[in-house]
Amino acid sequence: MSKVIIIGAGGVGTVVAHKVAQNHEVFTEIMLASRTLSKCDVIADAIGTKYGNKKIQTAKVDADNVPELVALFKKFQPEIVINVALPYQDLTIMDACLEAGVNYLDTANYEPLDEAKFEYKWQWAYQEKFKAAGLTAILGCGFDPGVSGVYTAYAAKHYFSEMQYLDIVDCNAGDHGKAFATNFNPEINIREVTQKGKYWENGQWVYTEPHEIHKPLTYPNIGPKESYVIYHEELESLVKNFPTLKRARFWMTFGQEYLTHLRVIQNIGMARIDEVDYNGVKIVPIQFLKAVLPNPGDLGENYTGETSIGCRIKGLDKNGKEMTYYVYNNCSHEAAYKETGAQGVSYTTGVPAMIGAMMFVKGLWKRPGVFNVEEFDPDPFMEQLNKQGLPWHEIFNEDLEV
Ligand code: NDP
Repeated sequence: MSKVIIIGAGGVGTVVAHKVAQNHEVFTEIMLASRTLSKCDVIADAIGTKYGNKKIQTAKVDADNVPELVALFKKFQPEIVINVALPYQDLTIMDACLEAGVNYLDTANYEPLDEAKFEYKWQWAYQEKFKAAGLTAILGCGFDPGVSGVYTAYAAKHYFSEMQYLDIVDCNAGDHGKAFATNFNPEINIREVTQKGKYWENGQWVYTEPHEIHKPLTYPNIGPKESYVIYHEELESLVKNFPTLKRARFWMTFGQEYLTHLRVIQNIGMARIDEVDYNGVKIVPIQFLKAVLPNPGDLGENYTGETSIGCRIKGLDKNGKEMTYYVYNNCSHEAAYKETGAQGVSYTTGVPAMIGAMMFVKGLWKRPGVFNVEEFDPDPFMEQLNKQGLPWHEIFNEDLEV
């Protein structure tokens, strides 16, 4: 028997709740808690209707407030918390886990509100505390970060004696019919894609202007799409855990229309993350922008097309011979919506978060301390990806284009 608590009732929380409920033999008691209780109730009701008697309990919690979290954890006594609120809440939830003796999993690294940094240092600093408490913290267990790290660990375990070049390629070839919308929390998304580019080469970070490096890459079942090198948080842990990597980059596709909107948003100051005075009220422009943009959770209904995310790796095989390897998943927005009521980006994040929690409660990824996903055995996770809706495919020794 294992009790799980999900924190955050947005697009990703919706998918996690569905997936946890579908795996009721593993997760015997489920609670969904978030800032707005009504959102949790809507999701729990939909799941109750869809899967019969697998009842999800709901609760209101402010995840910025440690005593409130501790009280909820002590009352419900979950084995693990799946944190799919916002990155700002990572540390308060980790503090509450330590106080209440609960294991931890998230999908995005901690970010201070006033600085878009994308660094693991704040969470890695909890290593000794989690170890001493005999608790496990699994960091970055969505798709990217998440499956991207598991794919890399799988490649290292089964195919390579030396991985030298890693390119994580993330394509969203979906169409939601809006002039501009983000696929997950707009504030987090815009902070991420407007920062300077950064990648790892020959033992150091190389910095670029935002979107400076780009070229078309061909995605399976989709075709060529202009792809841009941006910084993504898993690069930090992957180059640490796979020190043979000579270069590690992250590519993401953007349409021209999206980039034009983004440029305007930045030029007019709406991407600012500091407070400005508006008629005597302090507002943060990017938070105001979030309030007027389409809600990512509502994009699903008319979303068509697919995402394609994978790892393209070059190096030496187990016999020391040069090889290339491309492992990827394509996910249909329509199929994701049909199953969970959420679009493909929420789906590709929520499914791995559930699988990570499953790995923990089955005792497969249970180790005191703070870990990134690539530090665990990738095999049982890869097996579940095929069973839980994110099947993967492999291509050997073809041109990686990167
Ligand atoms: P949403 O904005 O849709 O949902 C966030 C949820 O968290 C909302 O329900 C919100 O409550 C709740 N929340 C925010 N602040 C608090 C708080 N203080 N206390 C309690 N609940 C709070 O985001 P998404 O579902 O799109 O994304 C969720 C997470 O997934 C993010 O951290 C994002 O970075 C991450 N992500 C990871 C990806 C990966 O591949 N690794 C990809 C995509 C996203 P309310 O409803 O009241 O606003």
